[in-house]
Amino acid sequence: MINRRQFVKSIPAFAVAGHLIFSESPARAQEPTPLKGHFHPKGKAPSKFTIEVLEEARSQLPFTDKRDFEEQKKGFIAPMKEMHIPADAGHVAWDMERFQFLYKQDDFDSIHPSLLRQSVLNNNYGLYEVVPGIYQVRGFDLSNITFVRGKTGWIVFDPMISAETVRAAWKLFQNHVGEELPVSAVIYSHTHGDHWGGVRGIVKEEDVRSGKVLLIAPIDFMDHTISENVYAGNAMNRRLFYQYGLLLPASPHGFVDMALGKGVSAGATGLIAPNRYVTMAIEEFEVDGVGMVFQNTPNTEAPREMNTYIPGMKALWMAENVTAVQHNVYTLRGAPVRDPLNWSKYINESLYRFGLEAEVMFASHHWPRWGNARIQEVLRAQRDLYANLNNQVLHLANQGVTINEIHNVYEVPEGLQNQWHCRGYHGSPENNSRGVIQRFLGYWDGNPANLLPAPQGESGALFVEMMGGSEKILSRGRQLHDEGRYLLASEIVNKLVQAEPQNQDAKDLLADVFEQIGYQQENVGLRNSFLAATYELRSGIPQGETADSSSPDVIRAMSTELFLNFLAIRMDSRKAEGMSFTINLITPDNGEKFIIEMENATLTNIEGYLTDKPDLAITIDRADLEQVMMGSATFESQIKNGTAKVDGDVTILAKLASTMIEFDPRFEIMPGTKAGSVPVAEADPYEAMPGKPIPE
Ligand SMILES: [Zn+2]
Repeated sequence: MINRRQFVKSIPAFAVAGHLIFSESPARAQEPTPLKGHFHPKGKAPSKFTIEVLEEARSQLPFTDKRDFEEQKKGFIAPMKEMHIPADAGHVAWDMERFQFLYKQDDFDSIHPSLLRQSVLNNNYGLYEVVPGIYQVRGFDLSNITFVRGKTGWIVFDPMISAETVRAAWKLFQNHVGEELPVSAVIYSHTHGDHWGGVRGIVKEEDVRSGKVLLIAPIDFMDHTISENVYAGNAMNRRLFYQYGLLLPASPHGFVDMALGKGVSAGATGLIAPNRYVTMAIEEFEVDGVGMVFQNTPNTEAPREMNTYIPGMKALWMAENVTAVQHNVYTLRGAPVRDPLNWSKYINESLYRFGLEAEVMFASHHWPRWGNARIQEVLRAQRDLYANLNNQVLHLANQGVTINEIHNVYEVPEGLQNQWHCRGYHGSPENNSRGVIQRFLGYWDGNPANLLPAPQGESGALFVEMMGGSEKILSRGRQLHDEGRYLLASEIVNKLVQAEPQNQDAKDLLADVFEQIGYQQENVGLRNSFLAATYELRSGIPQGETADSSSPDVIRAMSTELFLNFLAIRMDSRKAEGMSFTINLITPDNGEKFIIEMENATLTNIEGYLTDKPDLAITIDRADLEQVMMGSATFESQIKNGTAKVDGDVTILAKLASTMIEFDPRFEIMPGTKAGSVPVAEADPYEAMPGKPIPE
């Protein structure tokens, strides 16, 4: 199995794409010449139209408001001197050197000026004092790590993604603040992987189990930590390459930022289960002698999330509910659309409960806000941003604006557009507005012509025929490109690429079109997606070939029911035609039992029941089942050595295994981009593959 990290490891081979062999084709007369200094040999300079778009943004946006820059550097104690943080496995877990190009020029004609601004702000890299007793290490990962002084030690908020980056942050912190105090508590603000993945870098599991270290999380944290990413995990991983631009080199013509931070670290991820849950809507208790008020905010930025107020310090921790971006309501990697009205209401509650007296507000990404007036300004604007998205989009939908037009109609109110933290760096108004319609009305715009779309390839072929052949489309497409009408060019050239996936001239032209659209974006997800597709159209999909197992901690967090549900997704129903059997699964150590049934080429399970006459009964401790889920043992071997007890027809297991598919994240998105396939390494058919938890 190839997981995302392995896929990423294959980048270096592709960063030197110039050495790859491209399918040869004669240069077209009007084709712009490649840009010297571009990371890709077919890369183009921004056109005059693109430059105009960026110049207009430069003249219209409120660049005179420099408060973010003051807040970003306020309290700076020490820089991190090493530009690379090594991973225990030997590769580089974190590389800040690749972003130094951002300081070489004041402006770039291939980066939206607002995005450039955010990219430079996110380039902070060191230790900061928020207020006496609260510190943050920023720029060591996608997220910040925060230290709050307790009576006997340090209370850690959100231990980032990797143990290595967390250890490096703790070392820098101790070098400057002192080494005498231990970590007394850890708080996970929410379920996304960049807020807990590095926990093993700062506490020992036995200290959490014994209660020596308090580990606090919102209610149902474990249930939701990986469930968001399992069922469609492979597709999400693949889409993440687009949204997060994971294969793009850092460059003015490639990757520049991830909006929430510079990028995702590539170290060791782990998860320790909390020993204290915040169960009530509002709950107040002391953490290592510090009075804290926890506000649960379910179904906001994450399925489970919580803000924290420290009254004694007038300090408000807004988790990831309020950061320096318009966040994702619909995230391009794919996730159930978030509820912006609910999100807004929780921000409003934070405002009236804590925000009227708070003197500092800090979060798991970006930089703090100081002073009550500034805090209220930001909270109110963020509250209105998400409420407006919900309300105005539905207002328009109720007048007939559809999911296919809303992004051209909906506009963020001007008062919010002029506040930097409401800009669409992470979520875009275009995708968020479509997301709201998807949430309430789904993908259908109401036009039956769009209700049963014809197969893309067939439709493309008909268009090509009707338009008089590929040469005509190429010529008209190039003309539209030369006129700066990129969205229209994209429409017709995409038809040709769909019809003729092997037509490299068509793919190259579409790549040129996408590249200009990418350069013009303020939003990282849009920029990265267009530039990632550009890359794949020109070079094909990179190949990785290492196999790896999922993190044991993540598998442990997966409920048996979730695992069985996922097996049913991995099963190719077409291979299960005619199969019929019933299995009783009993896991005595946690007292669970399941009936698993194969019928009608469909695998189902029900928890809490056993059938009288199963074809097979399996009794195995959940702890041992995890070895199977991780692929470190097979059912076969566990039956042989007596770890699993079976009664009935064991051949059923082989039958079931024969229906399982290994998902591979290298599937084609753009037609004709699949390079020579490297066989996927052998894996246990029952291995779960949630991969690396998805950060956001
Ligand atoms: Zn995050």
